Amino acid sequence: MIQFKNVSKWYGDYLALDDINAQVKQGEVIVVCGPSGSGKSTLIRTVNRLEPIQKGEIYVDDTPVHTCRSIDELRSHIGFVFQQFNLFPHMNVLDNLMMAPVMLGRMNKKQAQESAETLLERVGLSHKAGAFPAQLSGGQQQRVAIARALAMRPRIMLFDEPTSALDPEMVNEVLLVMKSLAKDGMTMVCVTHEMNFARDVGDVVWFMDAGKIVETAQPEQFFTQPASDRARKFLSDIKH
Ligand code: ADP
Repeated sequence: MIQFKNVSKWYGDYLALDDINAQVKQGEVIVVCGPSGSGKSTLIRTVNRLEPIQKGEIYVDDTPVHTCRSIDELRSHIGFVFQQFNLFPHMNVLDNLMMAPVMLGRMNKKQAQESAETLLERVGLSHKAGAFPAQLSGGQQQRVAIARALAMRPRIMLFDEPTSALDPEMVNEVLLVMKSLAKDGMTMVCVTHEMNFARDVGDVVWFMDAGKIVETAQPEQFFTQPASDRARKFLSDIKH
């Protein structure tokens, strides 16, 4: 569903992605890990062209992202969940979920509301439909952000450190929602430091360092027998 072919990206003269070749199959859960600054966030942001690339090609299904003219259409099929929840602060939870499908003409108001209510139930927040983001905990806001991304019925979900801004006791409620999505067969690319999540839910780990995907492995193999010194050091660092 996603293919990177010889992708390189520079910020000025700094090479942030260095000849990336990788693919994501339908229904796969990819966990992207690696040290800070290794290019993880940049990589997933290229998928919906939040970051342009200077070399190579990226395809989502058969659509070439790098030359795609209808970028809004492409983005509407790709859900993106950020570290900061980015909810609309002046709208209640239900309106946050209904806005994009209605604005983009995907659903009428009634359909959007029904869909939003179903999604809120799914993330365990039906009772917060009328609340404003500031009235919710971080974990609840992030669950709303996931539901809002799902409201467009995306084919792919991208997560950029979705639990990093949360207090520790709230991490699990967000991971549980992500787990249930994975179980339902959603194609997911998750940048995360949650190694238990990677182990339990990931199909494939991409380990990045210095703008490259240094290792691609099944989680069990990656955690027990990392192939590179860099991955061994990374795993040892996060353990401590
Ligand atoms: P990670 O997600 O692995 O922490 P990032 O993708 O955020 O890494 O960043 C990769 C590298 O690119 C880092 O060295 C970072 O400082 C640099 N970088 C990220 N965004 C920008 C930007 N907008 N302008 C310049 N450099 C950037």
